[in-house]
Amino acid sequence: MASASSSHFWLDIVVARAKRKWFVYPWSDIYGWLANSWDYGPYGSLVKKNIADARWQYFVQERDDIYGMDTAILAHPRTWEASGHVSNFGDFLIDDKKTGQRFRPDKLIEDDLEQKRQSLSEEDLLKFLAQTYGVENTVPESWGPDVMLAYMKGESIKNPDTKKDAEWTDIRKFTLMLSTHLGPIEGDASKVWMRPETCQSLFTNFKNILNTTRARIPFGLAQIGKAFRNEITPGQFLYRTREFEQMEIEYFVPNDPEIALKSHQEWRDISLYFWHHIIKLNPDRIRVREHEQDELSHYSSATMDVEYLYPWWWWELQGLAYRGNFDLTQHQQFSGTDMQYHDPKTGKRYVPHVIEPSFGLSRTVMAVFLDCYDEEVIEKNDGSTDTRVVIRFPFALAPVKYAIFPLMEKDEAMMTLARDLFKKLSKKYYCEFDSSGNIGKRYRRQDEIGTPYCLTIDHQSLEDGTITIRDRDTMKQERISIDSLLG
Ligand code: ATP
Repeated sequence: MASASSSHFWLDIVVARAKRKWFVYPWSDIYGWLANSWDYGPYGSLVKKNIADARWQYFVQERDDIYGMDTAILAHPRTWEASGHVSNFGDFLIDDKKTGQRFRPDKLIEDDLEQKRQSLSEEDLLKFLAQTYGVENTVPESWGPDVMLAYMKGESIKNPDTKKDAEWTDIRKFTLMLSTHLGPIEGDASKVWMRPETCQSLFTNFKNILNTTRARIPFGLAQIGKAFRNEITPGQFLYRTREFEQMEIEYFVPNDPEIALKSHQEWRDISLYFWHHIIKLNPDRIRVREHEQDELSHYSSATMDVEYLYPWWWWELQGLAYRGNFDLTQHQQFSGTDMQYHDPKTGKRYVPHVIEPSFGLSRTVMAVFLDCYDEEVIEKNDGSTDTRVVIRFPFALAPVKYAIFPLMEKDEAMMTLARDLFKKLSKKYYCEFDSSGNIGKRYRRQDEIGTPYCLTIDHQSLEDGTITIRDRDTMKQERISIDSLLG
């Protein structure tokens, strides 16, 4: 594993590249930047859209048991009382009395554990934690506030900003819910919550779906949308922001825990297939981690996280929760609406259980960047070396699929043929037209944004309708006919 400093250096490089190459910009930076909020630029917005589309195709379009939805961000406030978010949705926080700064103690401890891993094996680390703090895992969130505080004090955790000794307060819970007001009068009556997750509207619409579609259990509802959390420690680029996008699915199954747990396991495999074969992340950087009993959210009776090996350590990319029938039962109770499913075959009525695969879109964009970004040392003809920056996006995720280069800008016939190819090919794929600079420089520009193929139109193209296609990864070039490309 890379050391903490080199891993953050690697992240800095990718962030700097992302900003320079039209992927991601700091939001409102002309006013000094609203910290940790990011805008997706021309290429970044395409990568994000391509990920969202690939996910939609795999989970919604290619399945006949999952229905797509697109629901509103602001909901009736009772929704969040019923779901338990108003009373329960929070993180632990701790203050440094010396500076007045606030931190998430679980994250500070995770960083400290990461440091200890430099010199201790996982087995020795667990032994140390069991002997010193009486805990049996390396998931601080599950230890509870008292043990976390004992660890913070026992291991002399410093303030991560000042790097100096801190004067820690007790650990408290802090709500992550953000609110706003509707209408001209601000007050409790007009207060609404910004949704902290996209899934509750899939539950509140459950009856509408049953009444208006032919959905039969098991079936799922999927959507992509914005969620908002007042994170105490946003950061690490797109990893933790206060406004982010989720791609959630609620998959309704019979109210039998045995069937539900089997489905939970099946969704584990389906999720892994998605990461390995649709998003094509390096399988060595993907793992599944089961939640400890004390770590489970208020609604969940079994949860696993799919984690990605970020440059610093394994962190969550996707949640996969078995939520029982907590949500539908709560909404039934709070709204008085009957949320039971009537099984047409058995005649039984029941409130179904649900499996929730919850994917973070913004985190996926970041993982894809990190996974695909490469700096390759290549040998030049004169024996010297050069560094080629190349983003090896899978074809489906690349913002630009083909770059079209007329060899000579001044040659009108070449320009016309190239423009014609652009016009035809861009009906199907995102293409870029570049007629300036030498071909080598144009290749490099495309490598840096991850374009899989560059197409060069030259003199021969005018004679026999063939062009040169250059592969981003192998850098090999071959001649193909324009007709075969347009197929
Ligand atoms: P974490 O423990 O990292 O705060 P979580 O367990 O609270 O995440 P979930 O509530 O399971 O996250 O949300 C589902 C997914 O939404 C996460 O796996 C992640 O990909 C994404 N997500 C959650 N919070 C954020 C955030 N603040 N910024 C970006 N993505 C997020």
